Amino acid sequence: MSMKSYITTPIYYVNGSPHIGHAFTSIMADILKRNRMALGHELKLSTGVDEHGQKNQEAAADLGMPIDDFLAMRCKEFQGVFDKLDVAYDYFVRTSREGHKQAVAGMEQSIFDRDLIIKKNYTGTYCKGCEEFKKDSDLTEEGQCPLHPTMKVEQTDETNYFLKMEPFRERLLQHIADNPDFVQPEAFRNELKQMLSEPLDDLCISRPKTRVTLGVELPFDTDFVTYVWFDALANYLTNIDWPDESYAPWWAECEHLIGKDILKPHGVYWPIMLMAAGLPLPKKLSVHSHWVGAGGMKMSKSIGNVVDPMEVIAELGVDALRWYLARHMRADSDSQISVDFIKQTYNTELGNKIGNLLSRAAKFSKARFDGKLPAPGALTEADEAIRKSVIAATEGLGGWISLAEIPARMQSIITVADEMNNYFAEQAPWELIKNDDTRERCQTVIYVTLDCLRVVMEALTQVIPGSAGRALTMLNAPDAVHPWKPELDRLQGDSDLGDIETLFPRVQ
Ligand SMILES: [Zn+2]
Repeated sequence: MSMKSYITTPIYYVNGSPHIGHAFTSIMADILKRNRMALGHELKLSTGVDEHGQKNQEAAADLGMPIDDFLAMRCKEFQGVFDKLDVAYDYFVRTSREGHKQAVAGMEQSIFDRDLIIKKNYTGTYCKGCEEFKKDSDLTEEGQCPLHPTMKVEQTDETNYFLKMEPFRERLLQHIADNPDFVQPEAFRNELKQMLSEPLDDLCISRPKTRVTLGVELPFDTDFVTYVWFDALANYLTNIDWPDESYAPWWAECEHLIGKDILKPHGVYWPIMLMAAGLPLPKKLSVHSHWVGAGGMKMSKSIGNVVDPMEVIAELGVDALRWYLARHMRADSDSQISVDFIKQTYNTELGNKIGNLLSRAAKFSKARFDGKLPAPGALTEADEAIRKSVIAATEGLGGWISLAEIPARMQSIITVADEMNNYFAEQAPWELIKNDDTRERCQTVIYVTLDCLRVVMEALTQVIPGSAGRALTMLNAPDAVHPWKPELDRLQGDSDLGDIETLFPRVQ
């Protein structure tokens, strides 16, 4: 039995270079994809870039570049970063794709035909950073956007097209009540319910071409392009070939990963757009919080605490970054990150607790048993105990994990790695090898240690696929069982070990 499922990340604005926030969401989506695939699901993962809107248009102008060249350059940069991060995406979204634009226009026309889009004049405040009209109550005391305090809001007087939102508010609240899993974790479900507790203003879905040209032309009025969020959100459908019917089984199991800053577009605009178009809602919004610098300081160039994903990869390797993000993410509160924290976690956890044990045990085995992994003899209570712990610590990754559960799964791996190190130290195979009558016991300890490490590495292929794959090659491990669950004794006794390299070389 194979089930289809579909995970999406937001598509990122290309007005700046990829940063740690982009890397984070896409890596978490990749971990969830690898988890579902290990369970035997068919999976599609989409990530990519949002190429439309005023901010991108102005970023190109600032660099004095033709818009197409600018977009191509940025897309290449983002795609290159995700490739280096080992994000196994199935779609790299570009909203400039012709098929996407046609489908967006089709969706707009169908909503227009249902009389849910109206044309009217709007006078008020506009934040270019948000690409959104603002109510006075949305602004700071100084009259600026709280998210873009340095960007100065503008006064606009414009005719635009608006989607009626209020007719759908009660229905959306009912959907949230009927489907507690629709928004996770709970704190954000409550925040969304709060957003929906008062009547909703109509949503402006157009921008006049006199102001913005970079976008999807409205099918019913060519003087306008589509509001960038309306166009961007639709990527989740257009990737899987909507309106072609083949989209349906993927869409039925769609999970959107989003940062808490974009809960409103995903929790309010998007479901209502879908309802207005007569389409089903996605299954789940998995929301996460943000990364801040050490001490809880916001990351900024002037403070010098910005963590650049590409610099981390160059210095420590991609798995140092993937591990840190998976281990320390918190769904419902912000988490701290710095290059020093990543280094520490890499050295103490991946290096000392996992990598060292693997090299010590595997090198010992090769040196003392003719390049081979010895066959085990009878198991003692200590052997059975560590084997049991390893199964218990990894079986969570043999089941469906949610975004919020990722750090707890990583914690169990580290806890059992400590236990494995204690086991190895207490059994002291380097002593056992000295006497003929304890030689068989030595074989057993080495076998148990390396077979336990194999189970841990199989589990870690969901998180740090490159390093875990190398470790399994060193152990000459057979292909993992599929669907995956932790199983003992799959290493072959008296088989050759591969070349043993240092998996996580120490950094200063
Ligand atoms: Zn703003």
